[in-house]
Amino acid sequence: MSDGAPGGDAGYDEWADALAEDGYYLSCPAGHGSLPPRRVCPECGNDSLSEEPLPAAGEVVTFSAVHVAPPDFAEQTPYVTAVVEFGPVRLTGIVRGLDADEVEIGTQVGVDVTRNEATGNRLVVFRPR
Ligand SMILES: [Zn+2]
Repeated sequence: MSDGAPGGDAGYDEWADALAEDGYYLSCPAGHGSLPPRRVCPECGNDSLSEEPLPAAGEVVTFSAVHVAPPDFAEQTPYVTAVVEFGPVRLTGIVRGLDADEVEIGTQVGVDVTRNEATGNRLVVFRPR
């Protein structure tokens, strides 16, 4: 997978591991944002991707409250999944620290990564700022 080119080589897992402390996104020269794993810009096809620091705060753009969850998440209902815009990129994750009725379009959150207690899988979470 790796050819030594800067940026774009990290897999999703490495990227997610970095989220908690050193989040970043990939940016092409035209300023389009994308997330690993990417080798070319999904918008313009430019292959000169650089890592840019992820903004500390993002804004909820869509969300939905989940009351009936798959087994992996059953113990955590109700919870809110959200799409949050951090500068030019959008991340999908689960909101923690806010009740379902406290989340709105435009709510400011920070991003973190944790593990699903039931499965040990990596989980992107948003927390109020
Ligand atoms: Zn681009």
